[in-house]
Amino acid sequence: MSAGILTPPTTGDYIEQVMNTVKAKNPAEPEFHQAVQEVFESLRLVLQRHSEYRDARILQRMVEPERVIMFRVPWFDDQGQIQVNRGFRIEMNSAIGPYKGGLRFHPSVNLGILKFLAFEQVLKNSLTTLPMGGGKGGSDFDPKGKSDNEVMRFCQSFMTELFRHIGPDTDVPAGDIGVGGREIGFLFGQYKRLKNEFTGVLTGKGLNWGGSLIRPEATGYGCVYFASEMLKSRKDSLEGKLCLVSGSGNVSQYTVEKLLDLGAKPVTLSDSNGVIFDPDGIDRDKLAWVMDLKNVRRGRIRDYADKFKKAIFMPTDLKLEHNPLWNIKADCAFPSATQNEITAKDAANLIKNGIKVVSEGANMPSTLEATRLFLEAGVLYGPAKAANAGGVATSGLEMSQNSARLSWTREEVDDRLHKIMISIHKACFETAAAYGTPGNLVNGANIAGFVKVANSMLDQGLV
Ligand code: NAP
Repeated sequence: MSAGILTPPTTGDYIEQVMNTVKAKNPAEPEFHQAVQEVFESLRLVLQRHSEYRDARILQRMVEPERVIMFRVPWFDDQGQIQVNRGFRIEMNSAIGPYKGGLRFHPSVNLGILKFLAFEQVLKNSLTTLPMGGGKGGSDFDPKGKSDNEVMRFCQSFMTELFRHIGPDTDVPAGDIGVGGREIGFLFGQYKRLKNEFTGVLTGKGLNWGGSLIRPEATGYGCVYFASEMLKSRKDSLEGKLCLVSGSGNVSQYTVEKLLDLGAKPVTLSDSNGVIFDPDGIDRDKLAWVMDLKNVRRGRIRDYADKFKKAIFMPTDLKLEHNPLWNIKADCAFPSATQNEITAKDAANLIKNGIKVVSEGANMPSTLEATRLFLEAGVLYGPAKAANAGGVATSGLEMSQNSARLSWTREEVDDRLHKIMISIHKACFETAAAYGTPGNLVNGANIAGFVKVANSMLDQGLV
């Protein structure tokens, strides 16, 4: 008889075994390993108390997507040349509702990145309190520098395969990096044409055709509401706080807008070429100019420093281990561009400069080491799956409005979003304390998100 049968593995052994299997079965997917590792570290605390999750092999089942779809996306460019991209949809977990999660169009997209995003999405969606499973998809297509017609032809070809796998009760994609209102419109148009039905199969739709007010604003607004809740737990507020925001896309723009609403002073934005720092602050007029630059003219953020003379532009060197944006003295940081944009060196710079709050708009913007540094330093740290859940939560509200065939007012949706962010913070805060790690919202988010999904999986048997 083997020692394994006589002595059941300890929680630590079990987690290590599953982690080793994840690495062996999914080679060359470092982002997926990183996301799983971070969650597993928190789950030690749960598995010590609940052996039933180990008995039902819940961890092994949760790291295995229910379904992965990979497909060819051929399209004609404006020169009449054939281009070929790769499309993906990861249907990760449907224990608590239809798969739900964005589509990302960016040249860096690969299977491992989408699996990390889908895995995070499962726990995030669980935290929102709404009935949504987790998924993610996209393509290595780069919309930058493409004409509207090229983007449309690409989206139509992408949907020509994807349509057979999605549906309002099956899988409901939304936007993410490189997929905004324009792309959702082209994707929806093609879905409707292929299925001959008008349904809420995508969220982030235009207001005239089933979209929800506040959906474009929701991720940024929600991330700021979450920061505000974190500060409240220390009897503080965003009023007068100097804030660093990275990126200059959807999440960044509405983060800046809500910071201005709450009396804070945002001073930075960035894109993949560099950072702008405006010591006078980015006010509403400057934000309107940035929105036009990014959403209409589709230009680069360096133009900001030509337009507003007090601002400086600092190019970023992606080979360096630190970004000048995170070395500017400020109270709060809102990473809102992409994964692993805050390295250990960046975290050390932020801590050295006295950062009080980090609220993550982007998905997994901090490396594992950076996260550890923030927690050790006692920074109010809002992990992505909690802090940026406002986007998908409002997508859930868009689905509810579509099902009921009505539209709520701006105030009503914003109020629901605000309440959801307060309740997510409360769940993370209370769960962290209940598991003996008060203030550690990483543990709070991972555990609270996990328990609901795991219990639903137990209820539904071995599927
Ligand atoms: P977006 O509108 O496409 O904007 C992305 C921004 O990040 C752009 O400024 C882009 O600069 C920058 N960026 C992207 N990849 C980069 C890289 N490798 N290095 C440096 N900068 C990079 O996308 P978004 O919707 O705001 O999404 C931003 C982040 O929020 C992502 O992590 C996304 O997963 C997360 N998120 C989004 C939502 C949502 O509702 N949209 C919800 C939850 C989480 P360039 O223009 O130079 O590429």
